Parts: sequence; C-alpha cells; structure tokens
Amino acid sequence: MWIILFFFGAAVGSFLNVLALRYDPERFLLGKHAVGGRSHCSFCHRTLKWYELVPLLSFVIQGGRCRSCKANLDFQYPASELIAGFVAVWTPIMVKSYLALVPEANVWIVSAIWILIFWTFLLLALIDFRLHIIPDELNIFLVILGLVLLVVSPAQPLGNTSFLGAYSLMLGLGDSIWINHLLGALFGLVFVGILIAVTKGRGMGLGDLKLAAILGLIFGWPDIVMILFLAFIIGSLAALGLMAFSKRHMKSKIAFGPYLVLASILVFAFGEKILAGYFSLFGII
Ligand SMILES: [Zn+2]
Repeated sequence: MWIILFFFGAAVGSFLNVLALRYDPERFLLGKHAVGGRSHCSFCHRTLKWYELVPLLSFVIQGGRCRSCKANLDFQYPASELIAGFVAVWTPIMVKSYLALVPEANVWIVSAIWILIFWTFLLLALIDFRLHIIPDELNIFLVILGLVLLVVSPAQPLGNTSFLGAYSLMLGLGDSIWINHLLGALFGLVFVGILIAVTKGRGMGLGDLKLAAILGLIFGWPDIVMILFLAFIIGSLAALGLMAFSKRHMKSKIAFGPYLVLASILVFAFGEKILAGYFSLFGII
C-alpha cells in the first residue's frame, strides 16, 4: 500500500518536473505544449521509451545518464520524484498525528488535500527557481484547496486548526476558523505589502505578496506569522550562502517563493516543536 502510494507520488513528481521545465508564462500552465508530446532527452532529443520513464528506477539503473548520448541527466529529475513520492507517504502519517485537529472520518480527505498542496508547492518552487514567476494557475488552485480544507475542517473550540499547539493561544485566535484564516490571509497581505513598499520592490514582488496571503488563508493566524519569520531566516541564510559561494551581489534577484513554501512545510511538520525549542533556549517554558 505505502509502496504503491510512493511510486504514484514519484510518477506525479516526474510529471510536475516536466510541467516546470516546459512552463511558458505566456501560455496556460496545463496547455498542450506542456502536457502533450512524448518525453525526450533534453540533450539528444531522442524520444524516451516507456522503460526509461519509470520514476527513480530508470534514473538509478541508467546511472543518471541518457542511454544513447550518455549526457548526465539533471539531478532535478530524481529529486522531484523522490520528494513527491515522499510527500504522498509522509503526509497521511502527519495528518493522523494531528487527530486532535482532524476527525477520524476525515483523515483521508484531509490528507489528500495536504498532499495536493505540497505537490503544488513543489511545482511552484521549481518554476519560481527557474523563472522568478509564480503562475496564477497555481495561486488559484491553492486558494481552492485552502477553502476546501476549511470546509472539511471540524468546528473546533476557538477555531483551533493551528500547527503551533498550545502556543497558538498566546497570540489569540478568532472565534471561527473562517475568521481566523481570513485574518491570516490579511496579515500575509499587509505584512509583505508593507515590506514591498518600504524596500520599493527590490526584495520581494507581487508574486510573493499573493503567495503570503494564500499561505495565510491555508495556515491561518498565528501560523502565518511563524511561516513568514522562518522564510526570512532561511532566505537570508540562503542568500548569504549564495553570495559567499557564487560571488553574487545583493542586487541579484532571489526567488522568495521556495523559502515561503519550505517554511510552510516546516510549520506543518514541526511548528510546535520549533517554538518549544526556541522558548527553552531562553529558559522560558
Ligand atoms: Zn540523450
């Protein structure tokens, strides 16, 4: 069961990687140019046989090379397959551990929504890295998933759907999850909006603004605060690393979307633990 789920996820990852590589901002994300046509080697353009398209296994068996031209295949192929496969297996396990937030009957539907959210995150990160663009198709899809998640979420006291556990109470919660998550969206919008205004758009762009609001809708208040905070820490460290290793300047554009989605996943997985560690560091329980 888990193995089938993993390979199904890996196949989706393979498809997402192709979508990311073929994405053209001028055209619809799932247009014919992206979805149609057989896969081919990006070096010698030979059409690939079915057995060269098995997620992960083909890459491993062929030693990461094209069978005819022997060109080294991009590591992005097996990496996306591995991540998407892992997401398919790991997400339901995590959702089950949040049973306090999710009633038993809803585990699979809630898991399915989160898997779709994380796969969308992967595609978003791959495209943002390559083109510094977040396609609106993905934004709209994430809004829909966020709304469906709210509909299937149980009515918890205090609207508690936070991944920060008891810590979320410190920052206060809205009475209903709808108010709470709309507040999260508003916070993401206002916070990143102010940052763009202050930096005159040199750091982040409109795409980051939209994504921050969407993450606020999906994760709610106060989780969005921690997502933005973590994203800035990870983004700054990555920017320093890039500058140190590749002599890039502060001026070179960095895609912020991947850090936002990475921070979101960290909050989903370890939100409460990260906060607990942070507070114990300063001797506060
Ligand atoms: Zn080739």
